[in-house]
Amino acid sequence: MSPRADPDRPPETDVEFDVVVIGGGFGGMYMLHRLRGVGMSARAFEVADDVGGTWYWNRYPGARCDVESMQYSYSFSEDLEQDWSWSEKYASQPEILEYARHVADRFELRRDIRFRTRVTTASFDERAHRWTVETDRGDRVTGRFLVSAVGCLSAANLPAFEGMDDCQVPILHTGQWPHRGFDFSGLRVGVIGTGSSAIQSIPVIARDAKSVVVFQRTPNYAVPARNTPMNRDYERRVKASYPDFRALARTRMPAFLFQYDKRSALEVPPAARERHYEDYWRRGGLGFLGAFSDLLLNQASNDSAAEFVRGKIRSVVKDPTVARLLSPSNVFGCKRLCVDTGYYETFNLPHVSLVDVSETPIRRFTETGLAVADRHYDFDAIVCATGFAAMTGSLDRIRITGRNGMTLKEKWKAGPRTYLGLTSAGFPNFFTVTGPGSPSVLANMMPAIEQHVDWITHCLLRMEEAGARTIEPMVANEDDWVGHVNDVASESLRSTCSSWYIGANIPGRPRVFMPYIGGFPAYLERCNAEAESGYAGFTIEGGAPVTPPRTFPWTTRWTAVTSN
Ligand code: FAD
Ligand code: NAP
Repeated sequence: MSPRADPDRPPETDVEFDVVVIGGGFGGMYMLHRLRGVGMSARAFEVADDVGGTWYWNRYPGARCDVESMQYSYSFSEDLEQDWSWSEKYASQPEILEYARHVADRFELRRDIRFRTRVTTASFDERAHRWTVETDRGDRVTGRFLVSAVGCLSAANLPAFEGMDDCQVPILHTGQWPHRGFDFSGLRVGVIGTGSSAIQSIPVIARDAKSVVVFQRTPNYAVPARNTPMNRDYERRVKASYPDFRALARTRMPAFLFQYDKRSALEVPPAARERHYEDYWRRGGLGFLGAFSDLLLNQASNDSAAEFVRGKIRSVVKDPTVARLLSPSNVFGCKRLCVDTGYYETFNLPHVSLVDVSETPIRRFTETGLAVADRHYDFDAIVCATGFAAMTGSLDRIRITGRNGMTLKEKWKAGPRTYLGLTSAGFPNFFTVTGPGSPSVLANMMPAIEQHVDWITHCLLRMEEAGARTIEPMVANEDDWVGHVNDVASESLRSTCSSWYIGANIPGRPRVFMPYIGGFPAYLERCNAEAESGYAGFTIEGGAPVTPPRTFPWTTRWTAVTSN
């Protein structure tokens, strides 16, 4: 056990902070750093025994980023940017975790984080205007402000299959992978799921395993990653103009740079379009979605890309029945596009097979494996690559009580309601980093996190300076924002399938498109306009009028601030 876990620490009770932060991933870490920079006291709580969040938990074989390393990194410290060097174009999970740990060491973040501690409740005291936060280790602290950095993909979804408790075979979830690793050598392995985590892990598991059976409910589109060792020339060039590089990325819908073609797919004659797709396929990565500007807006354009990728699957997978099963029929890019290394090729291996569970679902777990339809599969290990209760799952697991005893879960039971994905009416002084209603998972999450944390920090500072007590969004503005989030979602083909973006991966969740799909640049202009107006969309109680920040984070005219 890591000494950071401090298993014997006494509970903290009746300690007052300016801010209580939940989560020690990249969001919580940067929030702590910023608060310290502006002289506010903070306590963070984290379930894990160290920092890193996603990259702490998701240690499955093959786990890696699919946003380029040079872009999936903090931009707030020039020294950090210059000193850190990534070894590959797309960083692996161990390397990203090492980076998170380096950041924690460098900025001495751990001293303000209580690890191995789950926040269980948070309630707003309407008389004291403070949040009281309680944990599973008996802590009871208060904060004027509460910031959730619990993550969008941090609540693992382990479906409650019948018989699971009696199953004698090790069951692993990709998002809760054992830290000592797991040796698949010579084992018969069952994998449930064919999303990004499965698509990354199956080829690596298949290298060691005696046999692999993949249970697929819905096929996904995957484009090749084409990962390479870091091109040091490229790294030098980026580092020579990192601020410009980052600023340019912020002008792009998903807040990262890739080759983007402004034309419609339908403008280009079929043969040239095919060559164009080939070119993007050769380059690899998520950038394939930028091959034409209307792939997610126009069904016919989308069909052309979908058919191109299905053609690729047919050309790689030798067994036509397996190729057909692996070929999605839904909208290309509707579910999160997957990025693979040798996924389709893996199904040509004699010891790898695919079972379609779309019509005949997994019936039950048995003591020795899985029962599907009238067949039984014996396994030595079962991997559940079954994803997450995305966007709101970790918040739902905390009892967060705002004004008049209303809980957040209750308020959000028909779908999350936020203003700008940052705040929610009835929950004063409560902020969510990359909350639902913000670009979050549709963007490079590092800038999405930094922009939110900077916005929140500016807001808290202005509140402090004005001597204001509470801030919460006006209901009418929240309603407008929720309406706008839904409107832009309905214009996109992304809202047309059963993805986790709309909560459809888990039975019983409300079906609402949760992230903001209007793009990062539009979103940050909106956030800045809100700050510029002196937070006119909010009700602010007490103190002098809150004035706008003097400098504005996060536009293309952005300049970093350490205080305001
Ligand atoms: P997280 O990293 O999820 O951290 C949240 C932390 O909060 C967790 O450590 C959790 O333990 C803690 N927590 C939750 N509830 C509580 C509680 N009640 N009490 C105390 N602590 C709590 N994004 C990209 O932009 N590019 C990628 O390529 C990419 N790849 C990904 C690959 C995987 C396998 C996954 C799962 C996600 C990926 N993401 C990617 C999204 C990724 O989640 C973000 O990039 C980023 O790491 C999120 O940071 P965060 O701090 O917001 O949340
Ligand atoms: P996911 O995309 O939600 O995939 C889960 C898979 O499990 C799906 O194929 C799903 O099928 C299947 N499944 C769920 N419940 C099932 C059941 N009861 N029976 C059979 N199958 C079931 O989850 P994920 O792969 O962990 O990825 C989640 C997100 O994390 C990604 O979309 C991405 O944003 C991020 N991520 C990124 C990377 C990366 O490359 N950087 C890697 C991993 C994860 P259905 O589709 O039918 O629901």
